[in-house]
Amino acid sequence: MSLELSNKALAVKASSTLAITAKAKEMRAAGIDVVGFGAGEPDFDTPKNVCDAAIQAIHDGFTKYTPASGIPELKKAVSNKFAAFNKINYEPDQIVISNGGKHSLTNICTAILNPGDEVIIPAPYWLSYPEMVKLADGIPVFVRGEKEQGYKVSAEQIQKAITPKTKALILNSPSNPTGMIYSRQELLDIAEVVVKNDIYVIADEMYEYLVYGGREHVSIASLGDEIYKRTITCSGLAKGYSMTGWRIGYTGSSKELAKVMGSVQSHATSNPNSIAQKAAVEAMTGPQETVSAMLNEFDNRRKYMYDRICDMPLISAIEPQGAFYVFVDLSECLDKEYKGEKIGTAARFADILINDYQVAVVPCADFGFADHMRLSYAISMEQIQKGLDRIEALVRSLR
Ligand SMILES: *Cc1c(COP(=O)(O)O)cnc(C)c1O
Repeated sequence: MSLELSNKALAVKASSTLAITAKAKEMRAAGIDVVGFGAGEPDFDTPKNVCDAAIQAIHDGFTKYTPASGIPELKKAVSNKFAAFNKINYEPDQIVISNGGKHSLTNICTAILNPGDEVIIPAPYWLSYPEMVKLADGIPVFVRGEKEQGYKVSAEQIQKAITPKTKALILNSPSNPTGMIYSRQELLDIAEVVVKNDIYVIADEMYEYLVYGGREHVSIASLGDEIYKRTITCSGLAKGYSMTGWRIGYTGSSKELAKVMGSVQSHATSNPNSIAQKAAVEAMTGPQETVSAMLNEFDNRRKYMYDRICDMPLISAIEPQGAFYVFVDLSECLDKEYKGEKIGTAARFADILINDYQVAVVPCADFGFADHMRLSYAISMEQIQKGLDRIEALVRSLR
């Protein structure tokens, strides 16, 4: 008997961000005073009105299967939000509600990719994209957005990466891990390349509400009929409403694609959680004050963190414009020695920080940039101050 596992599944890398968060948690449980900059979720409670709506749904007996692609009420709310916030017209039958943004992205990959199709992924990238593409039999093709380009890729770079096998481009703005945002002009240039080459854009706009300094969030699908037809816009409730555990995401796409994704989902998960769908309706249609309060607090932390990093030797960052991450360039540190040993990689730098300074950070090799780390500011200001003091102590000690 040979109990072999699937080669495809075996090739999947475990999420390194979850591993780091787990290690910090473990140390904390052992009584160690760890500062964790690994958080990939807001540290605020889910708004009370949203929780109340979920409790009401339970009391109302709204606890059974729902339509596979989501309840009409929530599709309507998402459709209205797309129109008002994103300036895109998606009718309810163009919307698929899923079990989180991640689920929407895997639905998209399953629905559009055939074996050998290439998907262009700008680096630095969110670490799940390459794995999702590979699980759907696609081939990730990376294009680097260097620091000098604000970690963004240009339309020319995308054009150069396109081959007859190219099926789609993944575009994540605001970006995890960089916090950078593509401007309207940059998106117009990219849209032109996409339309000319007739490929899809998978627009991951999960952080669309978390944009700072009066900047605008622009959805690429809003920039014209031709790009609209080729774009699948993906978002969710997790980041903007502090609802990571509720697992609700959604897509806007063509009707045909929505139908295919709905069928795929009907066999994989039946439907998104009924109670969470009711909560999502309340989140999107109820009072929005908690969202702006969260945004203000994130903005204060963002400014503080960026200023502190600018004042430190050997490390640097570009001021983030959105999401809740600072992407820190460690390249100058890596030639330095720590206890007589050359540091070499961001992964080693992160090891030193967690072991000798009790600070958890995310080294970004899995995000395509092995000499950078990601710091999340989804933790309290007090924790941020303490953690940055410790990081500063390490970098100032390096020779
Ligand atoms: C968190 C995140 C998602 C998915 O969020 P869900 O929790 O699955 O809704 C998607 N894209 C990016 C870039 C993210 O950071």
